[in-house]
Amino acid sequence: MIYKLSDKQLVAQIKIKVKEEKEIIVEVLSYLEEIDRRKLFVDYGASSLFKFCTRVLKYSDAEAAIRVKTVRAIKAAPIIKQKIQDGSLNLTTAASIYSFLKNNRIKNRSKLVEHVCGRSSKEVKNILNSLSKNPPPRGLKITLTEHLLKKLEKVGRDFDDCSELEVIECLIDKYIEQTEHSKAKRASSQKSKNQRYITREVKESVDKRANNRCEGFSPVTGDRCTSRVNLQYDHFRPISLGGDSSAENIRKLCFGCNQRAAVKAIGVDKMMQRDSTTLSPGVEYYLEQTDTGLQCSFIPPGR
Ligand SMILES: [Zn+2]
Repeated sequence: MIYKLSDKQLVAQIKIKVKEEKEIIVEVLSYLEEIDRRKLFVDYGASSLFKFCTRVLKYSDAEAAIRVKTVRAIKAAPIIKQKIQDGSLNLTTAASIYSFLKNNRIKNRSKLVEHVCGRSSKEVKNILNSLSKNPPPRGLKITLTEHLLKKLEKVGRDFDDCSELEVIECLIDKYIEQTEHSKAKRASSQKSKNQRYITREVKESVDKRANNRCEGFSPVTGDRCTSRVNLQYDHFRPISLGGDSSAENIRKLCFGCNQRAAVKAIGVDKMMQRDSTTLSPGVEYYLEQTDTGLQCSFIPPGR
């Protein structure tokens, strides 16, 4: 019966609700952190936490992007979670801190967080810009023309469930693979004795079988992973456990499936030790429909 409340009561009530909302946001972030740690999103057919947020949790691209960035920011500076809970930091600022930390090595991250707490987005942006020692982030903003979008649509039919950006990335991956392939051909006379070495013939056979798509399967839905980007060759049975580098033991996995497989094989804690980079790589992008076409910005992985 909101309409029966007095003005004073209305404001008092909304303050309580906002406090509850912040608590819930922090709880949601904690769940996302743990799902990310376990790489559990892979079991649900999502190759990244971002895709898990959009496909499984039904967040919009923008909502998912800000949550994923905040999770990464918390990983880099845990104090951020407490600041979000007490209301002195919002998700937009947390995401900006993440982008800043990705490109700048800062020793005292807590101090930085304290410094930007309670400030407006514009003030935060100015502070972070002034502190930035590195050149501007390598993220790129491009506008895809109607003409290019039509071509992408045409190509995209062969890439079910892939966004425009993924199609672009996939085509570039294919080009790199082809270039490396011809280099490998030239060097094929020097065959490595390394047991992990995968021969060109095996790679060709696996590529044919995988058909440029991840060969991971979701244990939850039983569906094959739809990812076609960042595909890596993986030893199904590890060499250390007697596996070999034959086509039967090699599969193509996307980055997410590969990480999830490692979590299952060696456990999440060992994986965390191995993954010493505080800011884990992953393609994060944001698409926006504008009057001139589809606009996207993305941060390249591995930064
Ligand atoms: Zn996959």
